[in-house]
Amino acid sequence: MSRRFDVIIVGAGASGLTAGIQAARMGAHVLILEHMEKAGKKILATGNGKCNFTNEKQGIAYYNGKNPAFVLPVFRQFGVTETLRFFEELGIYPQNLREGCYYPASGQAASIVEVLLMECKRLEVRILYNVGIREIRQEAEDFSFHTKQGIFESRSCIIATGGKAAKKTGSDGSGFLYVANLGHTLTDMVPALVQMQGKQSFLKEIAGIRAKGKITLYIENRKVAQDCGELQMTEFGVSGIPAFQVSRYASYGLLQGKRLFVILNFLPQFSKRQTVDLIKKRFLTYGKGKTAEQALVGLFPRKLISVFLTEANIPLGKKSQNCSEKDLINLAQVIQSLRVDIIGTKGFDNAQVTAGGIDTDEINPTTMESRFVPGLFFAGEVVDIDGMCGGYNLQWAWSSGTVAGIAAVQRMEKAEKTFQTHESL
Ligand SMILES: Cc1cc2nc3c(=O)[nH]c(=O)nc-3n(C[C@H](O)[C@H](O)[C@H](O)COP(=O)(O)OP(=O)(O)OC[C@H]3O[C@@H](n4cnc5c(N)ncnc54)[C@H](O)[C@@H]3O)c2cc1C
Repeated sequence: MSRRFDVIIVGAGASGLTAGIQAARMGAHVLILEHMEKAGKKILATGNGKCNFTNEKQGIAYYNGKNPAFVLPVFRQFGVTETLRFFEELGIYPQNLREGCYYPASGQAASIVEVLLMECKRLEVRILYNVGIREIRQEAEDFSFHTKQGIFESRSCIIATGGKAAKKTGSDGSGFLYVANLGHTLTDMVPALVQMQGKQSFLKEIAGIRAKGKITLYIENRKVAQDCGELQMTEFGVSGIPAFQVSRYASYGLLQGKRLFVILNFLPQFSKRQTVDLIKKRFLTYGKGKTAEQALVGLFPRKLISVFLTEANIPLGKKSQNCSEKDLINLAQVIQSLRVDIIGTKGFDNAQVTAGGIDTDEINPTTMESRFVPGLFFAGEVVDIDGMCGGYNLQWAWSSGTVAGIAAVQRMEKAEKTFQTHESL
């Protein structure tokens, strides 16, 4: 195999494979260096194996980082419409299953990896697996990759090594070392889209419960983030999409040693007044002759009922008609604001993404090129951008991979033209 390429990409994940395809479509000779035994391992885990690969609802509100607006010039070049077309042309029939989330109609994340690899093969993008990169150096205008398999050289380099989340899929944070060695700054990195650990002992009692609700995160008593949906209670804390959505803020709060808690509202569709009225009706009208515990059956899962009553200091066996007005107001308040003190998260191993990464101030958002290492490009989660749950992280990977792949080739073409002009002078 030739050891000299136009573009060498580090990482055969979502953004790296896309960058490789786009660069090769521009006529470049491309090599992808991957340290795992196969490509796209994290893609296989996405959307519970079904791959929520984009979302029709877009905007900077769905992205986080030091500067979320950084995504805009990237999405203007390659957004949802272009992504859907890109995958349809590769053979993916997109299905809009819920709230704007797109999945392949096959119901298999593996289809996404397969079509990307078929396209790489068609375009003769080389992928070298099980590569151990010791160092990436920039010498004159070129990059050299010092690996256990020898030295490879290229005109442009794209770092697409992902973050630190779910390291068994390959994104173990090692890519950040190359980036730091090449002079770039990394912002604080924390696990995001991750389960949160709580302190309260009642969590063990309600483990396994899934209920519709609203979660509000407070850091040092200040409301920071909120989301609604299916809350999943676990024996260690809170999980489910709403918990994931607020978890990045919790991770940063914990990193800074701050005190945080979440308030869970199990009747978010009702106002305080409506909740009190509902509870009174159940206890004092329908509930006559029933115990307090029985009066809530049918409204909440059984295990949750006992926690609500215990937290409201109402004995489970107390006759419902004997509950005072104060008891019922108290109970309504517990149902709408059950407090869980957050003492940790389940960490990078269980997180879906990394919040933080390469400082976006050091990257040109129209090309994804380093502002001070010419020819060095970045794509995907390695950059300080993290999306909400719902297809946003993969959208960022496809979009930034495309922009980096195309710009890496355009830069070379420009340099070539300048060289030819100089030669002809
Ligand atoms: C369980 C789970 C479910 C998810 N579900 C969704 C979802 O449904 N929708 C969504 O949008 N997002 C989802 N995500 C997030 C999404 O998968 C990632 O944000 C996305 O894959 C990031 O793409 P990437 O190319 O930046 O990194 P990755 O896809 O992680 O690819 C990085 C690649 O680089 C390789 N690599 C790393 N270091 C080196 C090195 N030193 N040398 C060589 N190769 C290296 C890795 O092995 C890997 O192949 C999920 C994540 C997880 C863990």
